[in-house]
Amino acid sequence: MNITKSFKLPIVIFSAFLANSVIAAVIYPIQDASILLGSKFDIKLELNHVISQEDAIIELNGLPISKVISTKPEFISNEVGKGSTFIYRDVELSKAGKYQISARTPQEKVEVTWDVYASGPRRVKNVILFIGDGMTIANRTSARVLSKGISEGKYQGRLAFDDMPSTAMIGTSGSDSLITDSANSMSAYTTGHKTAVNAMGVYVSRASDNLSHPKVETIAELIKRKTKMSVGIVADSELQDATPGAVVAHTRRRADKQYIADQLFASGAEVILGGGSAYFYPQSSKGSKRKDEKNLVDAFKSNGYQVVLTKQELLAESANKNTKKLFGVFHPDNMDGSLDRFFLKKNTVSQYPNQPDLTEMTSSAIEVLSRNPNGFFLMVEAALIDKFNHPLDWERAAFDTIMLSNAVQIAKEFAKTHPDTLIIVTPDHTHSGSISGVVNDEKPGALREKVGTYADAGYPNYPKADVKGYPNQIDVSKRLAFFYGNYPDHYETMHPKLDGTFVPAIKNESGKYIANPKYIQLHEDAIHVGGNLPTNQETGVHTADDAVLNAMGPGSEKFKGFMDNTEVFKVMVDTLGLGRK
Ligand SMILES: [Zn+2]
Repeated sequence: MNITKSFKLPIVIFSAFLANSVIAAVIYPIQDASILLGSKFDIKLELNHVISQEDAIIELNGLPISKVISTKPEFISNEVGKGSTFIYRDVELSKAGKYQISARTPQEKVEVTWDVYASGPRRVKNVILFIGDGMTIANRTSARVLSKGISEGKYQGRLAFDDMPSTAMIGTSGSDSLITDSANSMSAYTTGHKTAVNAMGVYVSRASDNLSHPKVETIAELIKRKTKMSVGIVADSELQDATPGAVVAHTRRRADKQYIADQLFASGAEVILGGGSAYFYPQSSKGSKRKDEKNLVDAFKSNGYQVVLTKQELLAESANKNTKKLFGVFHPDNMDGSLDRFFLKKNTVSQYPNQPDLTEMTSSAIEVLSRNPNGFFLMVEAALIDKFNHPLDWERAAFDTIMLSNAVQIAKEFAKTHPDTLIIVTPDHTHSGSISGVVNDEKPGALREKVGTYADAGYPNYPKADVKGYPNQIDVSKRLAFFYGNYPDHYETMHPKLDGTFVPAIKNESGKYIANPKYIQLHEDAIHVGGNLPTNQETGVHTADDAVLNAMGPGSEKFKGFMDNTEVFKVMVDTLGLGRK
């Protein structure tokens, strides 16, 4: 029987009623948004009916909105076929306090409240924000074991961020989901607003164009608009990746990499160093990933930047006292990690032998930025910790955590002579890894019987680390038993992946990810581990576990206990005095 046909009319009415009662009108910024006084943001009202512009009464704290803000709204009579929309672009509020914004039409009513906060006076000259992308607690612990050693229960040294005076646990969830990606988590740090997975610098609305969602201002934009400070962006991923991108860009889709490259140029940041050269060269040049003929490398040059393409050029140009603006790209894609660069020479190291590492990019950035007497904001991302946690390659993640520690040490040395510097080191989200014991090749039996736990674990026998903090051998007879808690099907080899980054799963004919057979061929005793993630996941995924933040310098005392990721922005702008009239 065809029910739809015989009861057509009542069903239509019912669903219309349902739509009204379920989908309420929406205002962005969302309920309970915290907004820095004097920062720019867009207000968007989305109605579920098509109305004429005069039919909406929009009020801010009980007054017609036009009496409080001078911006004229953009009115879209029927946005994406879902109803009328009002957008007020680049709004700036001039008084701190609670704001209540409401909208009424003949059919709908909606109201949200915001907290508009002022900042204190400027207390620091410089802020250096280190992001250990995806750095979970076990990454730190494994890096400390490998780098410093441990004897009779005591570590023989500390990572550079271990002894900072302030520590906080950071909640990383987004406005849409418990589990964040690197775009919305970094966006919370750089704007103080929550957003959704894959978005940066915008609230995710119903707009169909990625670039027209309601925007919020980033800390780099605030600094450029309100101060004479310099801005630096350093990452060992592609520079268009989510974390460096969220310092400057406003898009609903982090995959808009050409747009993000354009925004990096438009940002006016004085120092930009990292990978991702493929998006800076015109499409006609070899290896370019652009869809137009724009040559951003030339554009940087003609805008007064020194352009560097190798480690040698980077070190030479940053040492030159006349260099005030520096743009460097050293790899078409993500750069190589320290385990490959210094020891194994795998992945793309032989193709790109002249890459600098994060320490060299950090010291060059600080050297150039500190030539500005007005101070600087520098973001440094150790991106590869996350890139190696995803494919369950804990040794590579540990080596890049050691590299992050070395980069942080450079910032600490700078802060010794420049104590007016706030240094923050934090993951943007976590991964699921954990250390469960020690794998001992001498123990008899199948591979899993070689895992020593409790008293049976004892200690691993990695050689003492070199001056940079790296042990020169990882395939030792007693290794950390490091296991991830979420994964696709894969083979657990309990051995470091000496021939290149681990590829735990590959797609089968029906498009599902299954264990990569390469590893059972390499290690015949490897254990097949049935995945606990959906079969469309090729690697491990981010977790909602708290991220551990460390900080030192003026303002760092505000980091304590559990904090939301948007509060990291608050501490930075408060200490920089960016929200003062
Ligand atoms: Zn991340």
